[in-house]
Amino acid sequence: MTTAQRHTAALAALADIVGPAHVLTDPDLVAGYETDWTGRWHGHAAAVVRPGSTSEVAAVLAACTRHRLPVVPQGGNTGLVGGSVPMDGELVLSLRRLSEVTEVDPVARTLAAGAGVTVAQAQRAARDHGLDFGIDLASRDTATLGGIVSTNAGGVRMIRYGNTRAQVLGVEAVLADGRVLTRWKQLTKDNVGYDLPGLLTGAEGTLAVLTKVLMKLVIPGDATQVALVGIDRVDDALTLLGAASRTGLVLEAAELMTAAGVDLVARHTATGRPFTHAAPFYLLVEVSGPGDIESRLLGVLDDAGSLVLDATIASGPADKLWRYREAHTEAVAASSRTPVVKLDLSTPHRSIGRFIDDLTAGLSDRFPQLRVICFGHVADGNVHVNLLDVPAASQERVTEFVFDLVTRYDGSISAEHGIGRAKARWIELSRSPVDIDVMRDIRTALDPAGLLNPHVLF
Ligand SMILES: Cc1cc2nc3c(=O)[nH]c(=O)nc-3n(C[C@H](O)[C@H](O)[C@H](O)COP(=O)(O)OP(=O)(O)OC[C@H]3O[C@@H](n4cnc5c(N)ncnc54)[C@H](O)[C@@H]3O)c2cc1C
Repeated sequence: MTTAQRHTAALAALADIVGPAHVLTDPDLVAGYETDWTGRWHGHAAAVVRPGSTSEVAAVLAACTRHRLPVVPQGGNTGLVGGSVPMDGELVLSLRRLSEVTEVDPVARTLAAGAGVTVAQAQRAARDHGLDFGIDLASRDTATLGGIVSTNAGGVRMIRYGNTRAQVLGVEAVLADGRVLTRWKQLTKDNVGYDLPGLLTGAEGTLAVLTKVLMKLVIPGDATQVALVGIDRVDDALTLLGAASRTGLVLEAAELMTAAGVDLVARHTATGRPFTHAAPFYLLVEVSGPGDIESRLLGVLDDAGSLVLDATIASGPADKLWRYREAHTEAVAASSRTPVVKLDLSTPHRSIGRFIDDLTAGLSDRFPQLRVICFGHVADGNVHVNLLDVPAASQERVTEFVFDLVTRYDGSISAEHGIGRAKARWIELSRSPVDIDVMRDIRTALDPAGLLNPHVLF
């Protein structure tokens, strides 16, 4: 059978499983699934299939294995490393129809939901029960639970509740051959064998397709206060955060921004600049805690003296202050003449300030035509490096320069977005050969034919 005949047979089998209306081949309908959020990563899909239940996902994967048709699982398609889009004729398996929150258990503090439920939907369901969802990120209206589990997303509350892996209690997932793996217990303690939910978390769709997730919920913090603080140096942010923690304030979020980034957002959103005089860096910090947190936060800022160039504070959720941080991704995308090169890195805490200084100086030295906007979850040592106006011909060289630098700082080439397609050829910078061998062995054991996300990770 030729490849074309195999594909035709596979698509006919898929239409039998999910119904012809859920196998998309019309180029206009497929286009949105073939390009990622950044516009930098795209490819061509054999078709998009949209199953509506676990049994349909299982039958789809079994059919793909029979017909040797590679598969790219896709949730909200907000991932920033090209992992959710096909490269060359794979089937896009969209999980968005698995969009039901099946249960919120206010006693066990858990949420059971389909992989296609969005983060915002999970947050609303949790809040309806007086609880909250521990993960929050600016893509919340589109990113799905399957996506955040598969990428082990961090987000702005990681400092408070940990990453997605810390919230996952159980999963239901379909293996490449169509078998359904269910590890689903509302137990805090359960040490029987390998931690398979933990393994599938962060696997970027290379080991199995998640269909349902059982997530922990958190008790929402007390009322919060948010401060936007102008500072001279990145290290000043860490000094302020240390001082706030020592007074007993609970850090709910801590985000770093630069003058260039805040300026871009101010222009893009047509809100004014936060302060009359621009500061080199800005720290956005949200705190909670017992007692009068407003005066305690003001006390921390007062005690910091000249370290604080300017500051404004507001009661949470303080959407206007948060907008400066949350609008960064869209402002950066709108301003760049080329698809933004997004590199999400982490360094040890003590060196994040020096790293950002070296990075900015090194880039402007070697690549004067590009613009760099850094922002990120500073308390996690995480910096999102956004490179604007990078001609396609220099993307690799620029990436290499940044990755070499972060490796010299003993950092990671992926703090929270994963490896996807974007960073696959540099994975050995952050993992040893034996480490990579073990990961390959695990992948081969679960997906011997290599059908799941073949271009991702390695
Ligand atoms: C404005 C903006 C802000 C962001 N902020 C953050 C942030 O603060 N922190 C952060 O970590 N990320 C952030 N991201 C990146 C992105 O939102 C996350 O990576 C998110 O987890 C992706 O979810 P998704 O549903 O869109 O997944 P997709 O983009 O569809 O997929 C991501 C990866 O997971 C796989 N996958 C998706 N669903 C499944 C499934 N059901 N089973 C198996 N594999 C699956 C895909 O194959 C792909 O490899 C941001 C993105 C944007 C656009």
